[in-house]
Amino acid sequence: MKKEDDFDGEDSTASPTRRSILKGAAASAAGAALLALGVGTARAAQKKKMVSPRQVQKSAPTTMDKDVKVVHSVCLSCNARCGVRAVVEDGKLVKHSGNPYHHYNSRFEPIAYGTPVKDTLGLPSPVCGKSQGIPKYTYNPYRILKPLKRSGERGSGKFEPIEWDQLIKEIAQGGKHFAHLGEDRVIPGIKEMNSDALIDPNAPELGPVRNGFVFIGGRDQNARKEFSDRFVKEALGSVNRVGHTDICGIGFRMGTWAFTEKKEVEIKADPLNAEYILLFGANIYEALQPGINTYGAIVGNRSSREKVKFTIIDPRATNASTHAESWIPIKPCQDGAFAMGMIRWIIENDRYNKGFLTAPNPVVAGKRGHACYSNATHLVIVDEKHKNNRKFLRISDLDPSAPADEGKAYVVLSKDGKTLAFDKTGDAALAAETSVKDASGREIKVKTSFSLMQEGVMERTVKEYAKLAGVDSAQIERVAKEFTSHGTRAAVTQYHGAGNYLSGTYAAYAIAMLNAMIGNIDRKGGYMKGGGGAGAWNEGLYDLKGFDGKRKPQGVMMSREKSAYEKSTEFKKNGYPSKRPWFPFSKGGLCVETLSGIDQQYPYPCKILFTYFFNPIYSIPGGYRYKETFKSFDKVPLHVSIDIAINESNIYADYIVPDVTYPEGHYGFLTPHAPALKFTGVRTPTIEPLTGTTADGRPFCEETFLIDLARAAGLPGFGENALKGKDGKTYPLRSGEDFYLRGIANLASSAKVPQASAEEVDFVEKNYPVARFKELLPAGEWKQVCYVLARGGVFDKSYEDVFDGEKHKFGLKRVVLYNEELATTKNSITGEFFPGTLKYVQPMTPTGTVIEEVDKDYPFTLISHKMNLHTQSRTVLHDWSMEVFPENFVVVNEKDAKKLGLVSDAKVRLVSRSNPKGVTGKLRVSKLVRPGCLGVSFHYGHTQLGASHLPVSKAEEVFLGGRDVADKNGLIPNPRYGAGINPNDLSRLDESFANTPMIDPVGGIPDFSSTRVRIEKA
Ligand code: SF4
Repeated sequence: MKKEDDFDGEDSTASPTRRSILKGAAASAAGAALLALGVGTARAAQKKKMVSPRQVQKSAPTTMDKDVKVVHSVCLSCNARCGVRAVVEDGKLVKHSGNPYHHYNSRFEPIAYGTPVKDTLGLPSPVCGKSQGIPKYTYNPYRILKPLKRSGERGSGKFEPIEWDQLIKEIAQGGKHFAHLGEDRVIPGIKEMNSDALIDPNAPELGPVRNGFVFIGGRDQNARKEFSDRFVKEALGSVNRVGHTDICGIGFRMGTWAFTEKKEVEIKADPLNAEYILLFGANIYEALQPGINTYGAIVGNRSSREKVKFTIIDPRATNASTHAESWIPIKPCQDGAFAMGMIRWIIENDRYNKGFLTAPNPVVAGKRGHACYSNATHLVIVDEKHKNNRKFLRISDLDPSAPADEGKAYVVLSKDGKTLAFDKTGDAALAAETSVKDASGREIKVKTSFSLMQEGVMERTVKEYAKLAGVDSAQIERVAKEFTSHGTRAAVTQYHGAGNYLSGTYAAYAIAMLNAMIGNIDRKGGYMKGGGGAGAWNEGLYDLKGFDGKRKPQGVMMSREKSAYEKSTEFKKNGYPSKRPWFPFSKGGLCVETLSGIDQQYPYPCKILFTYFFNPIYSIPGGYRYKETFKSFDKVPLHVSIDIAINESNIYADYIVPDVTYPEGHYGFLTPHAPALKFTGVRTPTIEPLTGTTADGRPFCEETFLIDLARAAGLPGFGENALKGKDGKTYPLRSGEDFYLRGIANLASSAKVPQASAEEVDFVEKNYPVARFKELLPAGEWKQVCYVLARGGVFDKSYEDVFDGEKHKFGLKRVVLYNEELATTKNSITGEFFPGTLKYVQPMTPTGTVIEEVDKDYPFTLISHKMNLHTQSRTVLHDWSMEVFPENFVVVNEKDAKKLGLVSDAKVRLVSRSNPKGVTGKLRVSKLVRPGCLGVSFHYGHTQLGASHLPVSKAEEVFLGGRDVADKNGLIPNPRYGAGINPNDLSRLDESFANTPMIDPVGGIPDFSSTRVRIEKA
């Protein structure tokens, strides 16, 4: 084995094949190829100097005058948004550590914001292994540097470089751009989409032709998201700017969405002050937001000092199980049953917080020490003959002559049975079912929200809930007792595992409700949202939101999110069921139903699809189904992908626009995830872009592409005079920096930060790539911006600053035991109302299919999870993560393995109803997964991103690795990138809806936990 001292700067961790490829003349030739491309000597030199783990260890600057550059920015190696300190040597990113100003790198206790930067450079600050692996990701040889145009069939992997100006022209104008391949069809261009003509004059609610343009964003965050919104929604006027919240984790968010009346999606237990935390499907030592070196570190630290206990409810024992007081291996998709059982026990044992629940309004709640109140006492009309059945009883229902503002008030019952406006009483009945009389003497049947919630809970006994959850009822009772033994200093943290499945909305709603039972919301040590940003970045000195000619998108989204089926022409013609589900109550961000809509050309056809940093065929459970969609010219006439590499999905694209990775060119304004805190981290590039450049020197990336395309297509909001200043002047929008640097100026001004000292201005100007653009701002604004940049954001508020005593100042204000909007929304397939409060809903498809029953010939439930060195699909490019974990496994419980006669490392084939051919993986026998379940991590089983040969023309010029990874035949694969299996390749499809991925009817939640599989010996 090579000794550490022998390290010569080469990548000693590479495989022998790869190492031999990297040696010698090939590397020099690759550099020459880059020069021929005009990418520049500096970049070629950077590439030749490989980054090694040893180099990373050495790079620890502690003063401002060392021969290295230091940039404070924000990590995007996962979505957690920790701060980073990037170390750059000779223009090359060599190391990430943490930013000591940032709460997320310091367990919520950063150094004082005013500390001079020079005094901080020697301070240690952590980031997780994903972030430490970022140099290998940034310089991954499989990245693309030039725009590509398809030169063979879709999916063939045949691409050729195309000049930037030609790319822009073809996409802006449309035309017969693939006629040379025998494709005699006219490709639509952006210009054609810039039309107010209706998609269907007989169904005007669908909106204009503009909506035929669909943009789906993968890993997007604030700033880049707003930039693409500007193009899609505001300049072109399409409603179809879709995120990917559904696959990210809309399940648990839908529960929070219902609980908070669509105000919030993420609320978590306070890790700093809770005494007990109940974790449902939350992997705090390996994933989560805040990340593993924040939330997990705080909980781990406090748990080691016996300041907090935590219980894990998950079919798989996550790493945190080591420190948990217990791990309860629940049956997949049954978190709601466990929570419902707890609530029943809490009610029956009189362990709920009456002071919180009986407070009818915020004033009374405030007097009782709560920053938030609930609608537990508010009366709901439960009278089918009443026009407002299922809605809250309001004063206007009792007295139609009441003034409008008084008439809107909710109604409660006093202890002696009188009806009162909720805001005019100090106490109210909690559980009540009665009739009240309106002014005409008509009786109206009513129940309180609490009573309706209780009815839903009481439909099953604790034992029955335990049976559904696959646990012992004593476990439910024990956890309920513990949860209710800490006053308000206990809380739930639920995450992706808690609701990312069919019927997940109601499971997650029940879990959120546990917090209302103990009245811990918005209280220190309890259940809290984030505190928001430190200031506004898109308005103030510069208006980054408005522009002349800005459009307001109209019509129904391809995903049918936020639109009611009952308002459609289709409903008027056909009634129920709709062709596919509609999602009026959903949080949205439904990329799965967008793609299924595109596949079914429902509710209208897609004309142009743009995908950004998005790999749905890999990342969506059952995403393999969309290979057919992407191949079809009818369903996707034009597909443009913006990405850093060729993946399993954009291999079907017509054009691929090369993008920068986040260290090279992303900007962002990142506010805290729950719980608590109030800050804005600022992401800026830490190195110069590695992609090619336009003739005027701008990097190939998303911003340059959208700006040039908008200008070529004649769209407003980009180019000359596109930005307006508070000073009355206009400014051009020709580059990303024109937009983002002014955003930082807005933030600095709004947060009222001081101007940086001369020393810190010098630090920024010597170290930060964005300083090249300082002339865009007046000198005073630039100095204020330098103060923010030098610290990586605005972190001037401490954890304590967001509290007024025990109360969270920026919290929720109100949570609901009964959600009126949900209760009055109908399932567009069945025509039935959704329950407005807790109800155990069996996991089922929108047409009522229970997968567990129909697929009982497949005895195992497949569950998936993230690993601590990986993030979703893209970290296969993190070579160091792949060194540590070269492959994934099919993890099976030892009892099941024994029954089947299987041992670790056996090759097995997993087969599902939707994938009868199956996939072959390696078995790992373990105690750490529930019997009857198979655990498979994401991140592996790639067929692209370097895993396969691709016949790309001039590949040496296209790929960052040049001749290290390319020859005259195209891309040379590295088999290491194809290791392991992808659990999504087995996911169950819904036969009732054209065999597209299964989704839940309330939120459009894609199912990650219902697929049943069989194990066969391979
Ligand atoms: S958890 Fe790790 S990868 Fe995620 S943002 Fe933080 S440092 Fe980066």
